[in-house]
Amino acid sequence: MAFSLDQVLAEQIKNVTGLDISFVYETNDEEKLAGFSTLPTDEKVRLFNSIGDINDVLEYPIFSNDEKYLSLGVDLGIPTQWGIIHLPYGPWLESYNNTRSQLILIFTGVLALALLFGVALARNMTQPIGRLVEYASQIGRGSSKESIEAPSVSGEFGVLSNTMKVMQESIINREEELTYRASHDQLTGLFNQSAVEHYLSEALPKTTGALVLLNIRQFKQINNMLGFDVGNVLLSKMAERLQQYWKKDALMLARMSADKFLVISNKDIACQDCSDLKRFLHDEFEVEKGSSIRLDISIAVLPFEYATASVNSAMRRLDIVADKAREESELCVFYKEGQDEDHRRRLMIIRDLPIALESNQLFVVYQPKVGGALNDCHEAEALIRWVHPELGFLPPDEFISLLEHAGNIQVLTKWVLNTVLSQLSQWWAQGHEIRVAVNLSAHDLVDEELPETVAKALKTYGLPERALALEVTESAVMKDRVKVIGVLKALQEMGIHLAIDDFGTGQSSLSYLRELPVNEVKIDRAFIQYIDTNKGDEFITKATIELSHSLGFQVTAEGAENAEGVALLNQYHCDKIQGYFFSKPLVAEEFYKWREAFHSR
Ligand code: C2E
Ligand code: MG
Ligand code: MG
Repeated sequence: MAFSLDQVLAEQIKNVTGLDISFVYETNDEEKLAGFSTLPTDEKVRLFNSIGDINDVLEYPIFSNDEKYLSLGVDLGIPTQWGIIHLPYGPWLESYNNTRSQLILIFTGVLALALLFGVALARNMTQPIGRLVEYASQIGRGSSKESIEAPSVSGEFGVLSNTMKVMQESIINREEELTYRASHDQLTGLFNQSAVEHYLSEALPKTTGALVLLNIRQFKQINNMLGFDVGNVLLSKMAERLQQYWKKDALMLARMSADKFLVISNKDIACQDCSDLKRFLHDEFEVEKGSSIRLDISIAVLPFEYATASVNSAMRRLDIVADKAREESELCVFYKEGQDEDHRRRLMIIRDLPIALESNQLFVVYQPKVGGALNDCHEAEALIRWVHPELGFLPPDEFISLLEHAGNIQVLTKWVLNTVLSQLSQWWAQGHEIRVAVNLSAHDLVDEELPETVAKALKTYGLPERALALEVTESAVMKDRVKVIGVLKALQEMGIHLAIDDFGTGQSSLSYLRELPVNEVKIDRAFIQYIDTNKGDEFITKATIELSHSLGFQVTAEGAENAEGVALLNQYHCDKIQGYFFSKPLVAEEFYKWREAFHSR
């Protein structure tokens, strides 16, 4: 059985498979293929020509006819006959191209959409972010709450914007709190010192009105005795009362320090205003239920006409008056022209002491103490003198109390001690055994090293303890009794002669004197100066001499100015007399001459 592989069969197969098919055989003519095919004739010829060798398509398909067909040879099991299947490449390529075009279209579309979406999204994000950044920088610049508004944005940015608004509000609140704290006193709610200085720096110069400084006397003691809580209540109540009093006339009310309040008054202040104010503050302050305290307040006034220069000088002047007001018992102290000068003078004295010590502005004078029933003089008191190049002669009372306040009196005492001992070493070397008394101040007496300092100085100058006497005042002893008595005991045990100076001027009594380790009482010149004319002075002096003697003290009377007084003192057995009647204080050389003359009368 056989069938011919011809055009008809090829067409039948094409009908079944849908594929073009060729049956080929090799011709002897130049080994070209020939046969039947479902392809159009010209395509068939071109294809047969292009394939050439059938073996080339048996294993792999090849493109032919300008890549129109993809042809694959099929071995039909007949030695000289083959089949070739043709897959038309055109529709396939077309479908590929179509797919590619579609893909490109889709991709372009998606890209365009993505771009559009991106642009829209970016616009939606960058604009609110930009507005938020601007908002944040306005907050950073500290613009006021009213001048900036939180941007109205929605979504997440809205949340962020709200958070920033809250943040701005808390920053503003905190700023306001800090500003308040910087200018106000926390306890009373009044302004503080820096607010006052700031106000004055803008308000000065001013012609009407005044600065009124109120100081609670003994506030420290109240604090110590009743506790800080009570102290705080008092200060708050005082602030309230001041606010009540100065409802309309005060430009500013401030607490300057612990117990100092300042009022900047819009109107001038007269003495009457001070007494009104004092009366208003005089009522008791209730600190706890049922317990009240009355405050003692000092008032200092600096009228604005004296506060024209600068805030600093105004505050200094106010301080000067306040110091005066605190010390004095007057109702109210007003600044007076020239007080500033006094202050400058005091500062100058304190400042110039070290230079004065080095440049011989200071020297010691000796005032004789006459004893032995007016027959001899073996003692003297050393008194300091200072001739200041600018201020002239300075009374010792003035500069000594200043130096005591400034805390440098001990330098002066050491200087006096050394100067006196150096002088004494000369006199003692010449055989004149004179005892000189040096005045000590309260500060010297609380120095527990004083006995050692004195002992060393005596040793340096080769002098015995009996060459030196020390004078201390009752008030100095009262400062710190236990410590001072300890120091005095040590000095007395060393063999140094000790005297209580200015006796009778303090609050001491003879019974209290009994406890003091001293050898001598010096009756103050207030009782001696007019003893010859004032019976009271005479009586007090006589009694003091007798009682002192019975307690075992020697007595010196200072300030005897005339023969009658000296005679009375001698009559009452006063041991030693010091006063202008015998001699004013003299420089060492003069004192020496005076003594020689006195002894050779
Ligand atoms: P004071 O220790 O009571 O000294 C006696 C004062 O009375 C001296 O005043 C003396 O000049 C004065 N005086 C003496 N006799 C008479 C008199 O007959 N009539 C009058 N009117 N006065 C008389 P001065 O020298 O001005 O000293 C005043 C005070 O200064 C002294 O009082 C003493 O407390 C203190 N002082 C003086 N020198 C020193 C010192 O070196 N150190 C210390 N800490 N104080 C000293
Ligand atoms: Mg004295
Ligand atoms: Mg005296």
